[in-house]
Amino acid sequence: MQIYADNAATTKMSDAAITAMTDCMQSFWGNPSSLYTIGQVAKEKLEEARGEIARIINAEPREILFTSGGSEADNQALLSAAMIGKKKGRTHIISSMFEHHAILHTLQKLEKNGFTMTYLPVHENGIVRIEELEDAITEDTCLVTIMTANNEIGTIQPITQIGELCRKRGVIFHTDAVQAVGHLPIDVKAQSIDMLSASAHKFHGPKGVGFLYVKKGIVLSSLIEGGAQERGKRAGTENLPGILSMTAALKEAVAGMEAHNVHQKQVRDHLIQGLSEIPHSALNGDAVSRLSGNVNFSFEGIEGESLLILLDQKGISASSGSACTSGALDPSHVLLAIGRIHDVAHGSLRLSIGEEITMEEADYIIEAVKEVVAYLRSFSPVWRDLMAGKKEFILK
Ligand SMILES: *Cc1c(COP(=O)(O)O)cnc(C)c1O
Repeated sequence: MQIYADNAATTKMSDAAITAMTDCMQSFWGNPSSLYTIGQVAKEKLEEARGEIARIINAEPREILFTSGGSEADNQALLSAAMIGKKKGRTHIISSMFEHHAILHTLQKLEKNGFTMTYLPVHENGIVRIEELEDAITEDTCLVTIMTANNEIGTIQPITQIGELCRKRGVIFHTDAVQAVGHLPIDVKAQSIDMLSASAHKFHGPKGVGFLYVKKGIVLSSLIEGGAQERGKRAGTENLPGILSMTAALKEAVAGMEAHNVHQKQVRDHLIQGLSEIPHSALNGDAVSRLSGNVNFSFEGIEGESLLILLDQKGISASSGSACTSGALDPSHVLLAIGRIHDVAHGSLRLSIGEEITMEEADYIIEAVKEVVAYLRSFSPVWRDLMAGKKEFILK
C-alpha cells in the first residue's frame, strides 16, 4: 500500500491545476505587460485569476498581490507593516511562539533592526488566548501576526476575534493562512483580516506561487525592485502558468471543501482513536479546534526519524514533529511551545491526510504505527530505563 500522509508539507497537483498550467503554457504564453494582443490576452487571464481569488476570500481584486509562495507573502506582509509602524513611531510587534519560520525568522530580522517582540504562548492546546493578546497590545504596537492554522499540530486560532480586537485597537492584523486557504472558509471582511498569506502547493496547486491579500489603504513595501508589475509592489514578469494553475486548484478546493472536511474529520478521529491505544502516547494540540487533515502524536521512548524511515518502508509518507531542514536534531519549536519536553517532542509523528484517504488506509496506518513503535521501543535504551522505573514516564 502507498499512502501519502504529508499534505501539510505539500500536496499533489490536481488534474485541473495541471490542465490550467499546460493550457496557459500553450495558449496564453505572452507577457502580460506587452501591448499587442498576445500580451493583452495574458493580461486578461491574469486579471481574471485575481478576480476569482479575490471573490473566494471576499476581497477586492486590487487587494490581491501574486507572490512566489507563502514565504514571500509572509516576508512582505511583515516588513511592510513594520515600515508603516516605524513611520508612526510604533515598533512593537505581537506574534505567537509557534509560527512558521517564514514568520519567526522575519521577526528576528526586524528585532535586529530595533523592533520589539511579544511572542504569545499557545498553551497546552496550541491556541492563543484572546485575553493575553488584549493585554499585550500597547500604544506602541504596529502589527499582530498570528497564523490561522498551525502547520505541525493543525490547531486553528480564533482569527475572527483576533481580527476584531486588532481593528478596535487600530493595529494591523496579518495572518499566515497557508494551511487554511482551500481547507477552511475564509472571509477577510467578516474576519477583519488586514493581510493574509496563502500558498498554492498546500491546496493541490503548483509550488512557487502564492498570494498576499492586503486590505486597501495599507501601503506595501516591495521586496523585489524592477518593473511595475503588481501595482509596482512586486517586480518581475508574472508567473502566469502558476497563477492560473493556483486559481484552478483553489476553485476546486473550495467547491469540495465541505465534503472533504466531513470525510477527513471522520478519518482523522479514527486515526486519533487508534493511535491513542498505544501506551504512553499523546495527541499534540487541541482535538476539536483542529484542521480536519491533521493528526500529530508523541510516543515516549522512540525517535521520530526512525519511525518515519520504517513507515516509509511500509509505504506511508509522513513527517516527524521537527522539519529537519538543517539536518539538525532540534526538536520542533511548535511541540516545545505546547510544553512537550525535548525527549518527548523528539518521538513525534505528523500525519496530514488528504481527501482521498480511505478508512481502510487509516486502519493500515494505525497497525503500521503500532508495530513500528513497539519495534523501536524493543531496543530503545530510553524505553528500557522507563520500564525499569529509572526514569519517569511523562505521557501516561
Ligand atoms: C508551507 C508553509 C509556508 C511556506 O509556504 P511556501 O509556499 O512553501 O513558501 C508558510 N507558512 C505555513 C504555515 C506553511 O505551512
